Amino acid sequence: MSFLELLQTVPAAFAGACLILGLMVGSFLNVVIHRLPKMMELAWRQQCAELRGEEPAAAPAYNLIVPRSACPHCNHAIGAWENIPVISYLLLRGKCKGCGAAISPRYPAIETISGLLCAYAAWHFGYGWAAAGALLFIWASLALTAIDFDTQLLPDDITLPLLWTGLLFNLSGTFTDLQSAVLGAVFGYLALWSVYWLFKLATGKEGMGYGDFKLLAALGAWFGWQLLPLIIILSSLVGAVAGIALMVVAKHGRNVPIPFGPYLAGGGLIALFWGQTLTQSYLQLLAAP
Ligand SMILES: [Zn+2]
Repeated sequence: MSFLELLQTVPAAFAGACLILGLMVGSFLNVVIHRLPKMMELAWRQQCAELRGEEPAAAPAYNLIVPRSACPHCNHAIGAWENIPVISYLLLRGKCKGCGAAISPRYPAIETISGLLCAYAAWHFGYGWAAAGALLFIWASLALTAIDFDTQLLPDDITLPLLWTGLLFNLSGTFTDLQSAVLGAVFGYLALWSVYWLFKLATGKEGMGYGDFKLLAALGAWFGWQLLPLIIILSSLVGAVAGIALMVVAKHGRNVPIPFGPYLAGGGLIALFWGQTLTQSYLQLLAAP
């Protein structure tokens, strides 16, 4: 039996392979989460300098590949064996080999969450395009969630490709039919855009960012307009609970902005796995006498 046949016929083998793939990509997501906002800031600075008519300053290359990962405290270059997802963190007992500074537990946490979600997606969807789509969706959601928490930004570099890939997967109806996907993208954007403007006209404040509109548009492209109400309700519920908890526990001020992206992404993940089931049981509940 070839490896491919094994993945196709043995669900546990497919889930195991996706667990390992999820752990490895999780490690790369940590790089994306850390570097993408800095790359955006560098690009903005460059554009501002150009607008002011200044010569662009020669800066060392900084992207997702270059420079190599290093300890932020002592600049110790991280070798291949120190870069094995989760395992290296455990072997190093969460400390840099060079200077002994603590490594953030968020790195192994992102890797673990990515691995487990990917394994679950493999188990849930089985070998095929739906599982491939689910993996991409999970990775984008994780990166957006962490970046939004850190910086209140949802980079176009992630939200826009996420929207297109959703439409591409639904060309052949992987998650919903193409018509529902296109309308989902349009209504998703317009829904939050309208809330934004109503809120702004009523209070003079900006309640959310354009990244949130694009993310909900992407979710509509993936799961169809029919799931948008569910996603909005789920993310508002989780967001309200988390927001109140933050205010109570961390004494977060009422005016400190709370990112909405993580809750949208969370609502999207629920829609990915249980959206169809949830809407069906809801419709049955409505139809019941
Ligand atoms: Zn160090």
